[in-house]
Amino acid sequence: MAHFLEAERALLARHYGCAVQIHITSGFRSGAVNRLAGGTGTSDHMEGLACDRWHERMDNRTMIDPRAVIELLAASDLPFDQLIFYPGQPRIHSGYGEPMRREVRHRIEDADGKAHYPLGLPT
Ligand SMILES: [Zn+2]
Repeated sequence: MAHFLEAERALLARHYGCAVQIHITSGFRSGAVNRLAGGTGTSDHMEGLACDRWHERMDNRTMIDPRAVIELLAASDLPFDQLIFYPGQPRIHSGYGEPMRREVRHRIEDADGKAHYPLGLPT
């Protein structure tokens, strides 16, 4: 997974014109830990092929808008399976398991608190 993240870090650095740090808050998860984290049964986290992370510009030490990161990655030609946007949160999820669908999704909750991940970014 590191080579995917390094290519993404380089893209972000070129785009923002400064060094960018990727802060990984979650990577490999066992099945039990993944369930506790609310992950799906097919999560790339269980294969060590996904991470949750946020991004920091190192010139002024500010967090980069997670939606802007997803839009930049989606518009690039870099490979990924899924990027997930979490409205109101600083982090994004990125997964790199085959078949590398280049899907962008976002998290919503229904009235019962059950999570859904429809395609695209919220309008
Ligand atoms: Zn994740």
